[in-house]
Amino acid sequence: MSSTIESVLQETRAFPPPEAFVKQANISGMAAYEAMCNEAERDFEGFWARLARENLLWHKPFTRILDESNAPFFKWFEDGELNASYNCLDRHLKTQPDKIAIVFEADDGKVTHVTYRQLYEKVCQFANGLKKRGIAKGDRVLIYMPMSVEAIVAMQACARIGATHSVVFGGFSAKSVQERIVDAGAVAVITADGQFRGGKEIPLKPAIDEALAMGGCEAIKSVVVYKRTGTSIPMTAPRDAWWSDVVAGQPTDCEPTWVGAEHPLFILYTSGSTGKPKGVQHSTGGYLLHAMITMKWVFDIKPKDIFWCTADVGWVTGHTYIAYGPLAVGTTQVVFEGVPTYPDAGRFWKMIQDHKVNIFYTAPTAIRSLIKAGGDLPKNYDLKSLRILGSVGEPINPEAWRWYYETVGGSRCPIVDTWWQTETGGHMITPLPGVHALKPGSCQAPLPGVIADIVDETGHSVGNGKGGILVIKKPWPSMIRTIWGDPERFKKSYFPEDFQGKYYLAGDGATKDEKGNITIMGRIDDVLNVSGHRLGTMEIESALVSNSKLVAEAAVVGRPDDLTGEAVVAFVVTKGPRPSGEEAKAMANELRAWVAKEIGSIAKPKDIRFGDNLPKTRSGKIMRRLLRSIAKGEAITQDVSTLENPAILDQLKQNL
Ligand code: ATP
Ligand code: MG
Repeated sequence: MSSTIESVLQETRAFPPPEAFVKQANISGMAAYEAMCNEAERDFEGFWARLARENLLWHKPFTRILDESNAPFFKWFEDGELNASYNCLDRHLKTQPDKIAIVFEADDGKVTHVTYRQLYEKVCQFANGLKKRGIAKGDRVLIYMPMSVEAIVAMQACARIGATHSVVFGGFSAKSVQERIVDAGAVAVITADGQFRGGKEIPLKPAIDEALAMGGCEAIKSVVVYKRTGTSIPMTAPRDAWWSDVVAGQPTDCEPTWVGAEHPLFILYTSGSTGKPKGVQHSTGGYLLHAMITMKWVFDIKPKDIFWCTADVGWVTGHTYIAYGPLAVGTTQVVFEGVPTYPDAGRFWKMIQDHKVNIFYTAPTAIRSLIKAGGDLPKNYDLKSLRILGSVGEPINPEAWRWYYETVGGSRCPIVDTWWQTETGGHMITPLPGVHALKPGSCQAPLPGVIADIVDETGHSVGNGKGGILVIKKPWPSMIRTIWGDPERFKKSYFPEDFQGKYYLAGDGATKDEKGNITIMGRIDDVLNVSGHRLGTMEIESALVSNSKLVAEAAVVGRPDDLTGEAVVAFVVTKGPRPSGEEAKAMANELRAWVAKEIGSIAKPKDIRFGDNLPKTRSGKIMRRLLRSIAKGEAITQDVSTLENPAILDQLKQNL
């Protein structure tokens, strides 16, 4: 069986960057981009070494660049020493201490400003407090916090003292927290009494108490609690301490703990769209380097920019593009506690207007839900400050892209559709705003120094105009170092024998068009095989979503079929109320005909079901593996710990 993937959807529009934009861009024009790619090709290690010297402040300079002796456990800049927090804060103290680092907007709309000096002092005080509580270099610290200045302070303070943090998204259950504490071997927890989201108060500390009572967490000797909601919660002395007591009387300076470049800055458990969460271990030097260069290259960051990434710090996007990248390059960023639909679906647009945001970075799931909730709302706000839009987390359907481009960006702002993963540490494949003519729904081109390709199952490049398996052929500085505590799983998952252990396997299918533009087609595990044609989920879903009158969101999976091998089953969320009975049948027929017209009868769904929503991870991604079980009529036996909305499964099952 061939592993190439067919592309059936034709997307021919192209949006070249305006000339004025190209002129001012950090990477200005195709020639500049190609020159960088060539430099990396000529002298791969020299290229990365130059960037590492230019961008990072080294306490002890590195002399070795890439160590491949124990591949695939690659090491970068290994004998160099630095500190991530020093690189994010201290470097700005002389040049721009009074610049706003964080504009924090709370759920209720209250705005707080924190300057670089203030942030430095908060981090130092908290770092000193952690040290006093016995937390030292190499310890693992679990962070379970609301979106807040303090969440960033907690991460930076860990980095400052050489402790490895593991942030767990505040929506996860006590059981998930306990599993991660045990897996990481954490010795301390930083949390809050609770959080506000969408006008509701949600407790946090009780989940920690519950997790710690489950057993296996005996190593936890300290729980620091930030008071956010003020609701009374039990505190267990001497284990638990209030944040305010931990920092009281602590000096506002704290000598950073210098660590080797390979020292684990953090462990982050992936969201689990495809299986049991894995603890992705990242380095300090290589990781921070990639965070910085992508802020400059992809977001084209300038000294006066206001940057806003809407992710939660519980995801990798919130690590690289909130807690580290923006600070390391000295930008002013917006940090938001709440949700996009509270008090109404205009919240994002109002915040862009109020804070004069220039660079806005969000996820397709948010875009699709905001179109459904109020596609005209952006028109009520002044969004002229915007100059770049970004997308991350899933393929963005061309229809959603068009809305984002026109209605939010005023047909003026390049969209950077950034493909990357928890494992890659930072952006890998994305159009650059001053370089590429944009192709809706496509992440287009690898960054200079990122050697991405699309191959068949024997590892041979498929070439332009074809689809296959996305791989990275050379190590890169911000890559995953291992799966915490499970090096064998790391090797098997990412450097499989199929490619002689040489290529990093991303797990996504992708195609290249005639010009070489890369488009993600969906996860390899989700690829459908209909009458011998291998189809990615993305194009069929995008074809459905392109029916903007009826469809808000769609997910497609395969189901075994006697005739065609596999049949396409589509789960659809409609723009209006969920149809039932005859209305549902008629709409299903209309959508089947629509897909046949858009991409051909090969992709026509055999079965269409309607739901109020789709099963999603807590980071907002569609969990197709659950839909596959439903489509087959099987019981769901997989891990559902990361599922946001379990109730929806019953609705989609009943729909049979
Ligand atoms: P798990 O690996 O545990 O199943 P996950 O893959 O959802 O979780 P992340 O690392 O957050 O966790 O997501 C990376 C994946 O998200 C990519 O492999 C890809 O499938 C998808 N993705 C991210 N950005 C894009 C993008 N711009 N275009 C298309 N797909 C994207
Ligand atoms: Mg993944």
